Amino acid sequence: MSKYDLIIIGGGGFGSSAAYYAARQGKKVLVLEQFERGHNKGSSHGETRVIRKAYYQHPDYVPLLQQAYKLWDKLEQASQRDLIVPCGLMLNGTPESDLIAGTRQAAIDNGLDLEEVPEEEYEDRFPGFQFAENTETIYEVDGGFLNVESCVETYVAGAEARGVEFRWNHEVTHWESDGQSAKVWTKDETFEADALIITAGAWASRLLSSLPQAPQLSVVRKVMYWFPVRSDAYDYTYGSSCFGYQTPTGFFYGFPSIDGTVVKVCEHTGGTPVEDPSQLDKENHEADLAPVLQFLQDAMPEVDPHPVTFSVCMYTMTPDEHFIVDQHPDYQNVCFGAGFSGHGFKFVSILGKVLADLAIHYETDQAIQFLSLNRFTE
Ligand SMILES: Cc1cc2nc3c(=O)[nH]c(=O)nc-3n(C[C@H](O)[C@H](O)[C@H](O)COP(=O)(O)OP(=O)(O)OC[C@H]3O[C@@H](n4cnc5c(N)ncnc54)[C@H](O)[C@@H]3O)c2cc1C
Repeated sequence: MSKYDLIIIGGGGFGSSAAYYAARQGKKVLVLEQFERGHNKGSSHGETRVIRKAYYQHPDYVPLLQQAYKLWDKLEQASQRDLIVPCGLMLNGTPESDLIAGTRQAAIDNGLDLEEVPEEEYEDRFPGFQFAENTETIYEVDGGFLNVESCVETYVAGAEARGVEFRWNHEVTHWESDGQSAKVWTKDETFEADALIITAGAWASRLLSSLPQAPQLSVVRKVMYWFPVRSDAYDYTYGSSCFGYQTPTGFFYGFPSIDGTVVKVCEHTGGTPVEDPSQLDKENHEADLAPVLQFLQDAMPEVDPHPVTFSVCMYTMTPDEHFIVDQHPDYQNVCFGAGFSGHGFKFVSILGKVLADLAIHYETDQAIQFLSLNRFTE
């Protein structure tokens, strides 16, 4: 049985990032991933993810995001791949909504660049979009999107180049630790390491069930849609941005058209519960599509409401919708990142590094106390 410095369970967004940052510290790392490289069965696929800085959900996210942006930039430079597209982010909602009031406050508190868009500029600045009465629109200059599959693949390739061993199609059945070393079992093999990181996405509950205070995680099925466009109003090359609308029926968001022919639009709210992530329903249903079509009719009239394609993905929710990034309360050599609640990808860079530091040094220089597991029991 060969011994590693670190084993990571789950080679998706956070696992691949943690592997990369651990390898940069010279560690011998093994990643065990149950599916194939670049699979689309978890939570890190579907072309794009929104990134933004003026986070209103908790003030401690903003310093993490400042670091996340720096690390994405560094990764982009090191890899010479296009990972982050700084196209801006338009947000619309009532002035008292969390989205508008909260984003404004976060921008003020952190000195971030946020533009107020007067109504008379709507048509010029956001052609192809409509806005409901009594709503306001703001524009976050630092907003944009990440090319999600490229980000994961860049971390995997960068980690491999530094000697990380990825074993694809290796499902971990269980693990144990005595605080100094950890053992991990697949169906056929046993692996041993000084430290263990668990980043199992929608499957986290099973692998974290032995925790004294196991986190309450619920998995939700989400459908992403790509619709044809009837004009170049949504075109990235003509200056269209990411967008998010807080409406009375839910939160809807999307991305500029990258190829000029289709636009990706999704609902962030809603979604159906998933009992077993390995048996995820990958079909598109009328009930998934209907709210998005209503949104298009209200807000994006130049989109053809017949999706050319769709993709099903999963959110793993915590009760308060904040992430869990922590060390095992009994074993300091085991740490985990879970419950990213449908907004985690933009943090993959910094929190992958945090997880690597927690596993290797048992500490991090980032303020992540607000993400601790014991917040649910305090
Ligand atoms: C539709 C959708 C839209 C989103 N939009 C945004 C957005 O705009 N902005 C944003 O910041 N975030 C967004 N998110 C959230 C973000 O994508 C996720 O938080 C993030 O990708 C989660 O990464 P992960 O590493 O936890 O999960 P994953 O990438 O799914 O990785 C977990 C991996 O663990 C593996 N695994 C699990 N169990 C085992 C086992 N027993 N043995 C071996 N391997 C195992 C899985 O196969 C999987 O590959 C969105 C998510 C979805 C679904």
